Amino acid sequence: LREKIRDLEQSLSQKYPPVKFLSEKDRKRILITGGAGFVGSHLTDKLMMDGHEVTVVDNFFTGRKRNVEHWIGHENFELINHDVVEPLYIEVDQIYHLASPASPPNYMYNPIKTLKTNTIGTLNMLGLAKRVGARLLLASTSEVYGDPEEHPQNEEYWGHVNPIGPRACYDEGKRVAETMCYAYMKQEGVEVRVARIFNTFGSRMHMNDGRVVSNFILQALQGEPLTVYGTGSQTRAFQYVSDLVNGLVLLMNSNISSPVNLGNPEEHTILEFARLIKSLVVSRSQIQFLPEAQDDPQRRRPDIRKAKMMLGWEPVGVSGLTPSYTLAQATQPGFTCGFNGPLLAVPVTPNRPKTFQRERPANFYGLVPLEEGLNKTIHYFSRELEHQANNQYI
Ligand code: NAD
Ligand code: UDP
Ligand code: UDP
Repeated sequence: LREKIRDLEQSLSQKYPPVKFLSEKDRKRILITGGAGFVGSHLTDKLMMDGHEVTVVDNFFTGRKRNVEHWIGHENFELINHDVVEPLYIEVDQIYHLASPASPPNYMYNPIKTLKTNTIGTLNMLGLAKRVGARLLLASTSEVYGDPEEHPQNEEYWGHVNPIGPRACYDEGKRVAETMCYAYMKQEGVEVRVARIFNTFGSRMHMNDGRVVSNFILQALQGEPLTVYGTGSQTRAFQYVSDLVNGLVLLMNSNISSPVNLGNPEEHTILEFARLIKSLVVSRSQIQFLPEAQDDPQRRRPDIRKAKMMLGWEPVGVSGLTPSYTLAQATQPGFTCGFNGPLLAVPVTPNRPKTFQRERPANFYGLVPLEEGLNKTIHYFSRELEHQANNQYI
């Protein structure tokens, strides 16, 4: 049997990314709504590679078939073109409910549709979960905290959202979606998990989705001005997509039904961020200040103590190294750490492991997480631009 499994794995791995073999009792049937989008497609990759059966449901509003095309035809994979605002009848064990536009220009483009997707769409997925006895994880957002009056934001904070402002369709939509999850949990016994996701970036972000990471990288690569809205003193904290995906899977398979923040607590002003991207791209672009966006949250940074304590999760960046391994690596001769923090931007010599440990700032999570992730993302966007220039995409 072992040989048969190896042969099967080998023949599939020639055509597809490598997939683990899971026995029937460990293999789950997993639905990912919004699975052709940025986060959903990376989650698809992880769950497929872990050996599960994955069904992606997407209406391709902001997602693209291209993000998951490497799985098309695989016996564990199915892609369904479907809008979650319409009921869906399939049989699954777990539902990762990600379907929703996520960037401000996208969710403001059709606010009524954003509301329908987050309310009716979530209701349908909860109805499905109830019928088949599946567990549902909602991709909620740090936007439920609005323009926060508490900093950093922990899960106990109720938020500060303008219910009639331009962001309300998304913020209030997600708040109702959370409310629905707990109503179905209490009234119908549905198992729910709620991830409050903070700003995330990485490959497969939509080129024109208007988020700050994609905007700045594209502008820097094309020599155009980097557009900073307002003074640039507003802050955000950015996590790399692989960290988020690991957190989502850990949360889904945990016994924590209350909301959990998933994000990287390393906070930057938007102006610092513009300068960082400019320098990583080695771009001569100017920085241009544009009018402030209405209701733009001024500060945002996750308190991730709950995820750390209850899931054993924290961001580790692109390298995927745990902090202790990072420490071992960092003490190798010639190792340099490009982290922007006060003391780590120096080579660490083998004789200084203890110093490194002592000097490590409290908010250091792995190897230069932000710069490494940004470099990968810059590489991705420059390839996208090349493809576009060669008319390889329609
Ligand atoms: P994305 O726009 O790349 O992905 C969203 C996906 O949902 C797309 O594939 C889109 O086509 C699909 N979709 C939208 N409406 C749908 C509908 N009615 N029916 C079926 N499919 C639909 O965005 P993303 O960044 O991958 O976000 C995924 C989820 O994570 C969203 O729910 C978002 O609110 C949440 N989130 C993301 C971030 C972030 O920084 N990326 C932060 C907080 C929360
Ligand atoms: N629903 C769905 N798939 C299912 C079961 C339900 O899409 O497998 C939808 C259904 O159309 C309904 C919603 O989920 O609108 C809520 O379902 P629930 O059973 O809670 O409500 P009811 O059907 O009793 O109004
Ligand atoms: N932002 C900016 N220039 C841009 C795009 C965004 O200065 O070209 C700012 C925006 O005003 C906000 C921050 O960057 O303060 C993050 O914006 P994004 O749309 O990425 O995410 P969100 O506001 O949802 O956190």
